[in-house]
Amino acid sequence: MVFPLDHEDASLQGQPKGLYIVLNERGLWREGLLKKCKNGCELGAKSCCAITIMFNEPDFLKQKCQLEEIITARGHKGLQNTVSKGLNSVSLLTIRRFSRKAFRYIDIYRKGLTRKIAKYVAKKYHSHRRVPNAVFDDIAIFYDI
Ligand SMILES: [Zn+2]
Repeated sequence: MVFPLDHEDASLQGQPKGLYIVLNERGLWREGLLKKCKNGCELGAKSCCAITIMFNEPDFLKQKCQLEEIITARGHKGLQNTVSKGLNSVSLLTIRRFSRKAFRYIDIYRKGLTRKIAKYVAKKYHSHRRVPNAVFDDIAIFYDI
């Protein structure tokens, strides 16, 4: 996909070849081929435009993303295994507690409360995912709002 480092034109050495050259080298370029379909590609199309042709090439389909390559090269077994191990190391009860707390904070911030008051309210109303609207009366008493 890149020009070789010993390419005759020094300005192209190590540079990406581009869609036209890659498809031409593979014998897939044809006259009038658009880079991309103007109104989007039809579902299941494999040769409607240059990008779709390239996307369906076997080596492109096998290509991992750069992040996955880096992680694999460093010896990590994969994100799926890591996430699975991480989730298994925490009890379901703890996950549920943090989830409820997160929902409570979402509700509190959605109601427009600020950080200090939010902390107080989250502590006081810890039994549900939502904070009752009566919280504004409660806050007014303590904070002279
Ligand atoms: Zn297309």
